[in-house]
Amino acid sequence: MTRVGPSAIHGQGVFATRDTPAHAFVRPPRGRVFRGYNHSCAPNARIVFSAELAAHSVRRGVVRLLRDVSAGEEITLAYGPFRPCRCPRCV
Ligand SMILES: [Zn+2]
Repeated sequence: MTRVGPSAIHGQGVFATRDTPAHAFVRPPRGRVFRGYNHSCAPNARIVFSAELAAHSVRRGVVRLLRDVSAGEEITLAYGPFRPCRCPRCV
């Protein structure tokens, strides 16, 4: 569902390998959880915490899509105040 590849934002990023609908859980590449995702102030995914996960029977620390993501699109998270932001909207 995801792969690691060169990112226009910074270094390497995590990319969807197929069209994926909003609210899907992102399976991290090679066992990663949060590592490898680039920051965006307009992210397409977020980290889901344990209280929500209990209802979904998913282990702690997963990433969930906020909107539909197309194959090849980079999956980004908002890590909070992060300057300078290097997402496409800010550069
Ligand atoms: Zn930005």
